[in-house]
Amino acid sequence: KEEKSLNFIEEIIEADLKAGKYTEIVTRFPPEPNGYLHIGHASSICLNFGLTKKFPGYTNLRFDDTNPTTEDTEYVESIKNDIRWMGFEWENELYASDYFDTLYGYAIQLIHKGLAYVDDSTSEEIAVLKGTPTQPGKDSPYRNRSIEENRLLFEQMKNGIFPDGSRTLRAKIDMTHPNMLMRDPILYRIKHAHHHRTGDKWCIYPMYDFAHGQSDAIENVTHSICTLEFVPHRELYDWLIAQLEIYPSHQYEFARRNLNYTVTSKRKLLQLVQEGHVNGWDDPRMPTISGLRRRGYTPFSIRDFCDRIGVAKRENMIDVGLLEFCVREDLNKTSLRRMAVLDPLKVVITNFPEDLSETCLSENNPEDIAAGMREILFTREIFIEREDFMEVPSKKYFRLAPGKMVRLKGAYIIQAESVLKDENGEVTEVHCTYIENSKSGQDTTGINVKGTLHWVSAKHGIPVEVRLYDRLFSVENVSSEEGDFKDYINPESLNIITGYAEPALRDAKPGESFQFLRKGYFAADADGTTEKPVFNRTVTLRDNWAK
Ligand code: ATP
Ligand code: MG
Ligand code: MG
Repeated sequence: KEEKSLNFIEEIIEADLKAGKYTEIVTRFPPEPNGYLHIGHASSICLNFGLTKKFPGYTNLRFDDTNPTTEDTEYVESIKNDIRWMGFEWENELYASDYFDTLYGYAIQLIHKGLAYVDDSTSEEIAVLKGTPTQPGKDSPYRNRSIEENRLLFEQMKNGIFPDGSRTLRAKIDMTHPNMLMRDPILYRIKHAHHHRTGDKWCIYPMYDFAHGQSDAIENVTHSICTLEFVPHRELYDWLIAQLEIYPSHQYEFARRNLNYTVTSKRKLLQLVQEGHVNGWDDPRMPTISGLRRRGYTPFSIRDFCDRIGVAKRENMIDVGLLEFCVREDLNKTSLRRMAVLDPLKVVITNFPEDLSETCLSENNPEDIAAGMREILFTREIFIEREDFMEVPSKKYFRLAPGKMVRLKGAYIIQAESVLKDENGEVTEVHCTYIENSKSGQDTTGINVKGTLHWVSAKHGIPVEVRLYDRLFSVENVSSEEGDFKDYINPESLNIITGYAEPALRDAKPGESFQFLRKGYFAADADGTTEKPVFNRTVTLRDNWAK
């Protein structure tokens, strides 16, 4: 494999290490536990964990859990599970909420330095005084409180004296600063809410800007990587670290990854779940890691995808076709081949004995000789795909038609002779004859046929539920459309059918992937039973991605 050039963050790290600035690096993946991880997070995971695979150092998992009302332990567990499934292991499992005491201490330090004050203004008043990007802001009437008064009020805030929203702690920087985020940003807000870890201990919670960089510093994170919308926050990030004289972590930004025909925002994904547009966070139509897993995506395919899209400085839309390409590539190498007929049409081989089941052999995976062969039973009555028969064939139709021959995969060449129809004129049965001595692997007939069909013995086949998925949204760039994003949900994103499959699929374990010959890749779902296994179509075989 050819050596890939370094991405811009790797270049920075390589230069830092060469210059002796660090001997090892520390990165972190910092999810807020307010939802399940999605494909955008996967790219951040691959980046952060990938850096410390490439360079000396380690990566922490830090839950950015400073917002009690939206966070939950269920999310913590799912996040850990998903990261491990993707093939990464963190050095330390950390929680920003474990630093609440330290952060409170930092706030007191700022108050003592005259760099923070308690503001009694309402959020509307604060917004008005903030100014605009082109107009300077104005000082709050509470800006010049004494250090002692600020300390006392802040302590009272912490002790639960004041109602939600009645006061905030703000940094005292500059209300005319060209960067709006530097205009006395709020550091703490009052929120009488139960926290998933600290319970009711706190009723004041630090804002993102007063928790993230501080947590990075506490953990000696060397390279704190976040997405582009945090570029304007970097100045505040640096200011707070400098004023508190704590470990100088540095923030670097890369472009958020968005996939077309879907949404990658936890808030929107939560709505889809809560309002029942999908069947949970792990619905195979969801762009969540758990949804992709259930759909049949492999950890390798997701890492490969993240690797191929790389790290960018500018936002762009990634074609879901690339993700599909990656999983096809991987499953082609690893998945066992099986035959399943999704839209069955009965074929009767009139010259084949009624009570005979003849053993045929077919390869488990032509890409992997070691996977060996399996036995399949050939019988007088079989199912083929309805679309593989045409009563009046078009010119380039090389499948089954009256008088035409095809090979049945692993079995014999057959020729169609006649059809039975129902009262609507629809073909219900095709009667064929098989050609003796034409069995796969021992064919001495010299007959050349152009088409090979998959098939399932009517006697031995088992019914399977197959869930066919289409895109969850019918427009490419969902968030650029007008109105509610849910108006663009594809009403036909799920189509459930019953097909017939070779009996070997009865023992498929949940999560196991198969190539159904000529139909695509399918993953067994935990909803299935031995009477009726369930399969999720991961992706079709056809490759639309231009290499
Ligand atoms: P969302 O908008 O979905 O809520 P978020 O950024 O609020 O995402 P976090 O839990 O804060 O979600 O994300 C954890 C990490 O993953 C952050 O470092 C964030 O920058 C990164 N991340 C989130 N979404 C994407 C994305 N679409 N592309 C790349 N990185 C992302
Ligand atoms: Mg975030
Ligand atoms: Mg968020």
